[in-house]
Amino acid sequence: MTIRPLGLDPTHCLIGGVWRAPASGAGLPLHSPSDGAEICRIARGDHEDIDAAVRAAGSALTGPWGHATAAERGRVLFRIGQMVLEQVEELARLEAMDVGKPLTQARADVLALARYMEFYGGAADKLHGQTIPYLEGYTVYTLRQPHGVTGHIIPWNYPMQIIGRSVGAALAMGNACVLKPAEEACLTALAFGEIARRAGLPDGALNVVPGLGVEAGAALSGHGGVHHISFTGSVGVGKRIQQAAGQNVVPVTLELGGKSPQLVFADADIDAALPFLVNAGIQNAGQTCSASSRILVQRRVYDQVLNGMAARYAALRAGPALDDLDLGPLVSPRQKEIVEGFLAKGADLEIAAQGQIISDAPAGGAYVAPTLFADVPPDHILAREEIFGPVQVVIPFETEEEAIAIANGTDFGLVASVWTESGARQMRLARQLRAGQVFLNNYGAGGGVELPFGGTGLSGHGREKGFEALYGFSVLKTVAALHG
Ligand code: ADP
Repeated sequence: MTIRPLGLDPTHCLIGGVWRAPASGAGLPLHSPSDGAEICRIARGDHEDIDAAVRAAGSALTGPWGHATAAERGRVLFRIGQMVLEQVEELARLEAMDVGKPLTQARADVLALARYMEFYGGAADKLHGQTIPYLEGYTVYTLRQPHGVTGHIIPWNYPMQIIGRSVGAALAMGNACVLKPAEEACLTALAFGEIARRAGLPDGALNVVPGLGVEAGAALSGHGGVHHISFTGSVGVGKRIQQAAGQNVVPVTLELGGKSPQLVFADADIDAALPFLVNAGIQNAGQTCSASSRILVQRRVYDQVLNGMAARYAALRAGPALDDLDLGPLVSPRQKEIVEGFLAKGADLEIAAQGQIISDAPAGGAYVAPTLFADVPPDHILAREEIFGPVQVVIPFETEEEAIAIANGTDFGLVASVWTESGARQMRLARQLRAGQVFLNNYGAGGGVELPFGGTGLSGHGREKGFEALYGFSVLKTVAALHG
């Protein structure tokens, strides 16, 4: 089987508006998580291609893209969004096949990508500078300007959503982007590059160079011609990217995952909570930075919540992405091995419930049955480390203080949610929980294109999504005029 996203040759990179083979001519196999078969080959871009892409982006900044007005940038983003909407089924199938996610979830990602283009298209001409009252005879004002060339190193779990939130915001502010998608899943990144080209985005404003992290990724994060780097991925690689960017004193936005808790108090509407408690853990087979992997439950309702979650787990089914069940496979045999390693470390724990892998799931697929652990001590490795698979731990607590201490007791701080009918407790916890986003009586809030997102601690720093991202993808300049 050879896939041609939107008719493209997937062994090519998009550099300066032209699809071309990488300079080395080298390729990499892309495998289907659902059955292990090779889907196609992709480009193995390296430092030469990254260098060409950074140069092309630099040229775009002095060409038509650099001269486009904010309104024109917005308009082209809208056109991209419109064309994404015209390709929902094709893009969803590509993402499902490539990432292994159920088709319905992939379709939601396409819609989110379109929505990001609309949001940032609409925002492009809405970010203004200020005038600042100053000394007699001066006029002082600020300008919001693009960084210049922005590097975007993205993971395989939500390619379209992450392209939407980072490339969308960067383009809105007038940056020129070099996108390095993950070697495990890059087909929709290629398709997006082609859509942007067809929508009339000027040459070089978006370049797409697939390749290995240690080759293309490292070349991009250390390139002297890059002025800002946005990275979503693992903590280990995030540290390396920050170091590489540090050599060039380049700002980075890091989104590195989490161990996000949901706190369920005895006064909560538990029936309303249950679907959120489970879905936030098993969406995309748990391979979600903002997955909720810890469920903290007040002792008085512990059995009720655990039993409710266990009943839902028992009904979960995992199978090939295109079968569109509750869960697909994990992205790769390597990821499956990592998750199974964690499950083995939970051998001392009680399994409250597991879902099923359907009996005719292909043997070559990276399937893991979703697993719910009960009564997990907060200091257990499964309660502290990010697993990135369909595994949740349930932890009992007695008091609000204890719940806060457990919730804040990991090295991460990305998302948290609180289930309680007490408004005062909602307000207290929203302040005290260590997280970039806190949800009250919900989790995830409908995708949240408009909602600033990012972490603290090992979850990273900087904010993407929402209007806030536009500040991160621009630089403030102060202009002081002495005119008497
Ligand atoms: P995961 O462990 O979930 O696969 P990674 O953090 O390894 O996530 O990968 C996320 C992205 O970072 C991918 O695009 C990958 O190619 C890239 N990457 C991996 N290693 C490096 C590196 N040393 N320098 C720059 N990018 C890298």
